[in-house]
Amino acid sequence: MRTLQEVAREASTCTRCRLQGGRTQVVFGVGNPDADVMFVGEGPGFHEDKQGEPFVGAAGQLLNRMLGEIGLARQDVYIGNVVKCRPPGNRDPLPDEIEACTPWLVEQISLIQPAIVVTLGNFATRFILGKQVSISRVRGQTFPWRGRIVLPTFHPAAILHGGGESSRQFQQLREDFALIRSTLEEHEARRETAPGEPLLVGDEEQLELF
Ligand code: SF4
Repeated sequence: MRTLQEVAREASTCTRCRLQGGRTQVVFGVGNPDADVMFVGEGPGFHEDKQGEPFVGAAGQLLNRMLGEIGLARQDVYIGNVVKCRPPGNRDPLPDEIEACTPWLVEQISLIQPAIVVTLGNFATRFILGKQVSISRVRGQTFPWRGRIVLPTFHPAAILHGGGESSRQFQQLREDFALIRSTLEEHEARRETAPGEPLLVGDEEQLELF
């Protein structure tokens, strides 16, 4: 099996879709390769494209802050995106671009093996759950998925472009991060008492990806 570094090296020259034409560099992902919690966003923006790291702009500042509120730092978790090259003008990634790029994400998840996958926004949530869900309907819940837990929440950029800190969405983001914390604690306790057993079991109707 390849290492995460080897996969990142291969991805750095990827030309599988049209987004390669406008990028400064491929933004593969960052963080702890053995993380229990992995965040999946949408795609790199202007600053991410320039710096080669996901979530370093304003949305990244908010993500860092929310992590801090639950006692985590960027280096404790892994952060990646559905597409790894910046869509021009920060437009939404197109279906064929998502289809071309997500094998990289699938491989990342397979190698990192996080217990909890936090999907940030509609694109990540729809890809992982395999359904055309709306983030506002599924956020704040946990879903069983391949022996892991998927926990959808808002993309931090949506909060910034919405009502900011005075918005109801911001309060819900906070609640969702508190849920990440409590789910992680439950996972850590379960690892001690019943290693190998999934934390959450239930019906899964997701795509057969892993
Ligand atoms: S967005 Fe993904 S599939 Fe498209 S060129 Fe970049 S790394 Fe390759």
